[in-house]
This record gives sequence, C-alpha cells and structure tokens, in this order.
Amino acid sequence: LTAVFDTLSDRLAATFKTLRGKTRLSDADIDATAREIRVALLEADVNLAVVRDFVARVRERAKSAELSGALNPSQQIIKIVDEELVGILGGETRTIRFAKNPPTVIMLAGLQGAGKTTLAGKLARWLKGQGHSPLLVAADLQRPNAVNQLQVVGQRAGVQVFAPEPGNGVGDPVDVAKRSIEEANRRLFDVVVVDTAGRLGIDADLMQQAADIRDAVDPDEVLFVVDAMIGQDAVNTANAFAEGVGFDGVVLTKLDGDARGGAALSIARVTGKPIMFASNGEALTEFDVFHPDRMASRILG
Ligand code: GDP
Repeated sequence: LTAVFDTLSDRLAATFKTLRGKTRLSDADIDATAREIRVALLEADVNLAVVRDFVARVRERAKSAELSGALNPSQQIIKIVDEELVGILGGETRTIRFAKNPPTVIMLAGLQGAGKTTLAGKLARWLKGQGHSPLLVAADLQRPNAVNQLQVVGQRAGVQVFAPEPGNGVGDPVDVAKRSIEEANRRLFDVVVVDTAGRLGIDADLMQQAADIRDAVDPDEVLFVVDAMIGQDAVNTANAFAEGVGFDGVVLTKLDGDARGGAALSIARVTGKPIMFASNGEALTEFDVFHPDRMASRILG
C-alpha cells in the first residue's frame, strides 16, 4: 500500500536493530537513537517542525520510561515511536460523520491533479458499499474534460452524476452545486459528493470559488485532497486551503508512488485535521479508510 514510506521503514528498522540485545539503554544510547530517528524522518521529508517535536518527545519519554518487565529496551523505544507516530497521524480513526438530516454534503477541495475526481469515484463506491445512496456533483467546470471525467468515474462506480445540462454553456459551479442539493432532496440521495475545480497552484480565484461553493452548499465535511508525492508543497498547500476554504479532513492520494512521502505524514499534525482516507492507485478499489495505528505499525514493520 505505502511505497512512499518504504525508505523510512527501512531506516527505522536499521536504527532499532542497533539496540537489539541491550539490556539497558544509557542516555547516550537514547540520544544516538533519537539522532538516527531524526535523520530518518528528515530524509523521508517529514516537516522539520514536526520532526523536532517528535524526536524531543521520543527522547524525553525514553529517558523517563520505567523499565517494564515485559519489554526490553529496544521494544520499549519501538513502542514509544509507534505511539508518537499514531499521534502525529491524528490518533483515532475518523471517517465521514453523516448528517442527522440527509443529505450529508461532502465537498472535495485541492489542487488540480491531486486526484479529486478519481477520489470522488472511490468515495462514491465506498459509500455505496456502506449502504448509502450517493450523488456525485460536477462542480469542476474549469477543465473542459472534468465533467466528462466525473461521468466516466460515476459510471464505473455505478452512481449517478449531477452535471450542468449540455448545451447550456459552461455553467456556474456555485449554481450547479446548489441545484445538486435540491436534486438530492427530490430524488432521495442521502449523500452528495461535490467535486470542485483545482488549479495547478494556489490562486485567489480558486480559493474564492471553493469558498463560494462551500457557502452555497454548507457542507457537513470538506475534504482536502492532496497528492502525497508533492513533498513539502503538500504542507504548504494544506495550510493555504485551511486558511482559504477550511476543511475537516484530509485525503492522501498516490501513496503508491515512489517519492518520499514524509510530508504527508506531517499534514495531520500541521493542520490539526485528521487523515480520513488514503488512495493508492488509479483503480476505484485502491482506496481505504486511513487508520493511524495501522499505518504506524506498517511503517515500523
Ligand atoms: P483532479 O484534477 O484533482 O480531479 O485529479 P484526477 O482525479 O484527475 O487525477 C489526476 C491523475 O492522477 C489522474 O491521471 C489519475 O488517474 C491519477 N491518480 C489519482 N489518484 C491516484 C492514486 O492514488 N495513485 C495513482 N498512481 N494515480 C492516481
């Protein structure tokens, strides 16, 4: 699932290996281990502020840890690192909170190419599997092919797509989004997933349009969709969207990539918002709820 974290996994494993067989850890051992962990995280492209805080906590906890009978020192450090990783990844698993009065409105925001449209299909398929009846909404009217792409994705997921009528000009994305809610009420869809336009970079118009759509549909959940392969830009982009639009949760895409994915590991901590879903391929099935504890275990092998 997580090729982007393989190097980090290997580095941490190598670090813990040096502790194996020790019956007690001196402060010097702990400091050396902390330095190794720091390098491993930085090499994986985890955000510097997040790394500093992480390493300081691990060092402090390791030094003050009571020697427990059940765990040897290296297991104890691994346990601390595991718990701290779960912490920076957001702690508890958190997915969509459904509205008491349907439809639950989910809005997708993010840069162009982040994987929003693909994600819309994956999310719709997942929602269907949970017994929901989702309506996908094409409010990305920026790219000429975006509506068509969402229709293709909707067809593959076996869900309905609400789009501006052809021949009606480009249409106004805010108007389309607004009408989609009426449509959902009329035809009893209980979840509405609104795909919005992105740009290649942060841009005031884009933010304004996303904010206008948000105001028009009053979403229950705004999901920020981000490509895990774009490095530290992922953190910068998250901050820009947090300020410009605001969001409730994060979706990491392209975790199947081969770039260093550490920036993605920083997003939950930097924004204070949970990672809800992870996407790891182009197929609609390559998608899952994000579990911080499972991800931490996987990174630690
Ligand atoms: P949008 O502009 O945000 O709507 O992004 P798209 O959904 O059009 O995705 C951009 C490109 O990334 C497309 O070629 C997708 O097939 C691809 N893509 C989306 N999600 C993933 C993923 O998780 N892994 C990989 N490898 N490719 C993805």
